Amino acid sequence: MKVSIIGGGITGLTVAYYLSKNGFDVTVYESSYFFGGQASSIKIDEYNIERGYHHIFKNDYEIIKLIDELGLNQSLEWHKSSVGMYANGSLYKFSTPIDLLKYKPISLINRIRLGLLSLYLQKKKNWKPYEAISANKWILKYAGKEIYNRVWGPLLKAKFGIYHKEIAMPWFWSKMKTRFASRNKRGDEILGYLKYSFEELINSLIDNIEENSGKVKLNHKVTSIGQEKGRIDNIEYICDGIKKKVKTDIVICTAPSYEIKKLINFNQKYTDKLSAAKYLGASVFILKLRKQFSPYYWMNIIDDEIPFLGLIEHTNLVSKDRYGGNHILYITNYLSHTDEIFKKDTKELLDIYMKNLKKINPEFNKEWLLSYHYNAVSAAQPVIPKNYSSLIPEIESPIENLLIGNTTQIYPEDRGTNYSIKIAGEIVSLLKEKVRKL
Ligand SMILES: Cc1cc2nc3c(=O)[nH]c(=O)nc-3n(C[C@H](O)[C@H](O)[C@H](O)COP(=O)(O)OP(=O)(O)OC[C@H]3O[C@@H](n4cnc5c(N)ncnc54)[C@H](O)[C@@H]3O)c2cc1C
Repeated sequence: MKVSIIGGGITGLTVAYYLSKNGFDVTVYESSYFFGGQASSIKIDEYNIERGYHHIFKNDYEIIKLIDELGLNQSLEWHKSSVGMYANGSLYKFSTPIDLLKYKPISLINRIRLGLLSLYLQKKKNWKPYEAISANKWILKYAGKEIYNRVWGPLLKAKFGIYHKEIAMPWFWSKMKTRFASRNKRGDEILGYLKYSFEELINSLIDNIEENSGKVKLNHKVTSIGQEKGRIDNIEYICDGIKKKVKTDIVICTAPSYEIKKLINFNQKYTDKLSAAKYLGASVFILKLRKQFSPYYWMNIIDDEIPFLGLIEHTNLVSKDRYGGNHILYITNYLSHTDEIFKKDTKELLDIYMKNLKKINPEFNKEWLLSYHYNAVSAAQPVIPKNYSSLIPEIESPIENLLIGNTTQIYPEDRGTNYSIKIAGEIVSLLKEKVRKL
């Protein structure tokens, strides 16, 4: 049975790995010149580093299981994370409950309230009643204006920009839960990272697919999915400017929903589901620096004057010794696709950002910069609206033998490689069951 998988990100590759292991004849078509999609890496000097910062949480059971199955568990290392908040022109430690109690931008009573509400959300199991309320409304109602204006509101705005009032409460609940679940008894956040980057996982999946006689193709952009009598029949792709058509029995499409809609027409109900979650893009710089920028791995920026939302200093999680003694700093922003930032010249944007880095750390100067890399991701973050459980596009599309798997199906958790792997597992189970029934 010939299976064509569209997209060589973590979802597509995991599906291909499991299907090829189960004897299916799989081919992965990836439009880009690299595999791994959002979890892919670039090479800086002789080491790999993700295009967008990546880590694993302690409760990311699916990815931990896959890493183990692929024999990579000796590479999975756990590190103590550290969080900082830049607010009111000062930098605050925000890693543990004690740090929260010392967080001056809000009153003591609200610090206690913030801690109790965080604990409440962490303990809460039933998120269903949250479906009908936006995170924005819930925070204002239960945490009040000060906490909203000085802590959670800016974080929502920073992550979801113009959509920050639309994001549903289950997203916020799951974010709090995940970040707490990854803490040790002392309250420190512990995060996982593969010794040689996520590229280790991507390469291992590819090696296994090929060992199982599957095929993986780069620079193959699928341009349409063809059907005959309501069933999948073929796909068309373009490679080196040449269009080709190949027959196929099954298509698994892991492209973002807005791309899927361009490949084939669905009925109105399914089209609406593919449109229910909008996407935000991400604009990410990777700076290789001579010196450490801050003491924190993750720094939230709560300052309207600063044009980026966060700084992730990878070498404050993983030792700089692994990167030739240099420091790796990500500057990140989640933005709507039409945002002016995406139109700016990279060098011009970097200059603006560097001036703002200086506001956060006055000692920082251009001499620290050894090299940089810029990456824009278009399907970085789905914006999950209220009452989403009835709007999620099903894995089994209305077209026979066309299955869909992407980050808009991750709910109520926030998107992440762990949940992409979970979806891949569900696709494989569904397909095996279909074939068993034939
Ligand atoms: C900045 C950033 C930081 C992140 N940090 C973390 C983290 O710390 N931990 C974590 O677990 N997750 C993190 N994530 C999320 C995680 O990377 C994604 O959830 C996951 O990689 C999504 O995988 P995917 O395969 O579903 O989608 P993608 O990675 O988007 O892959 C889809 C693939 O389909 C290809 N494609 C699209 N259209 C076509 C077509 N027509 N023909 C052929 N190919 C096509 C694309 O080129 C792409 O490679 C982060 C994401 C971003 C953007």
